[in-house]
Amino acid sequence: MTKINFSQLVQRSTSEIRSYLNTLADTMEQDILAHPSFEGKIVFGPVRSRRLGASLGVSNVKHKLCDYNCVYCQAGETTCCSKERDCCLSPYELYFFVKNKIETLERSSIHLDYISFVPNGEPTLDDQLATEISLLREFGYPIAVFTNGSLMWNDRVKEALMCADHVSVKLDSVNEETWRKIDRPHRKLRFDLLLEGIGDFSRAYRGVLTTETMLVRGMNDTIGEMEQLGNFLTTINRSRSYFVTPFRPPCEAYAVPPARETLDLIARYVNEHIPDSEMLCCPDRDEFTALGDVEEELLGIMSVQPLAEESVDTYLSRHTGSHLSINRLIDRGLVHRTTFQNRTFYVRHHQ
Ligand code: SF4
Repeated sequence: MTKINFSQLVQRSTSEIRSYLNTLADTMEQDILAHPSFEGKIVFGPVRSRRLGASLGVSNVKHKLCDYNCVYCQAGETTCCSKERDCCLSPYELYFFVKNKIETLERSSIHLDYISFVPNGEPTLDDQLATEISLLREFGYPIAVFTNGSLMWNDRVKEALMCADHVSVKLDSVNEETWRKIDRPHRKLRFDLLLEGIGDFSRAYRGVLTTETMLVRGMNDTIGEMEQLGNFLTTINRSRSYFVTPFRPPCEAYAVPPARETLDLIARYVNEHIPDSEMLCCPDRDEFTALGDVEEELLGIMSVQPLAEESVDTYLSRHTGSHLSINRLIDRGLVHRTTFQNRTFYVRHHQ
């Protein structure tokens, strides 16, 4: 493409200017997509979940840039515990990555229910989140954001989340001491602001707001905790509250699900006393579709969550032509094998 400067451009006819700008946009798009270091790491899937169906995952903050360091985090130890907002790709770069992926999915008639900003770090630490959501709207899919809710008191974060169709907010406890033990927040975060922020947001938000509570053995698995949480949940506008347990290898080995009898007691309490709530304690089977480079796609999904052995086997058996074997990824030091709750998982190493 021949480069021309601004004064040369304005002397051209409208159709020539339009054609030049279209060519320029195509060239930019090709340059951005050719950037190998981002392939599969920022946009991945679709991954199937019980709550959202098939969603295309987007994770545009640096790996484990988070203002929490939850004991059960499946993305590993927080590498950068920050409350400064930062992102990997510019909104336009992200737009082209998503566009490319959606075009590939649509060409293969693969159904998509959502585009989801998922936590491999905290999505609201992306200071361009609002612009990104607005740009991604063009594709016509509803947009979900999974957040830890820690910055919901911040006006810019609130504004960004307002643009999403579905916001899922983590709320492991309404007891500050428990919150500090489980979520290990950045020392400057204030618990009163967090609860106030979630409440205010819920009253102003017009989309679907859900909450998610991770139940961890010996930490927040008492009826007293559930009672306090239930009291708070009844004061906010939410569609549904979900209760889950760790089912992938956690950051800390002691972050395990409550004992069976405890879970039964909690389930009974939650069903009877917390309206619009649901226990989701049996693990989701990981189901994901990948159409691009088989290895990149697999590693991309693993950057966000460890994958169970049976899911990886199913995935690889569908792509026999690629000759990719999990042992090769292990030998190259990209992945390691571990067990959690009697299941084998593969976990991505992050350089
Ligand atoms: S679980 Fe979410 S909020 Fe907690 S440390 Fe991991 S990425 Fe951050």
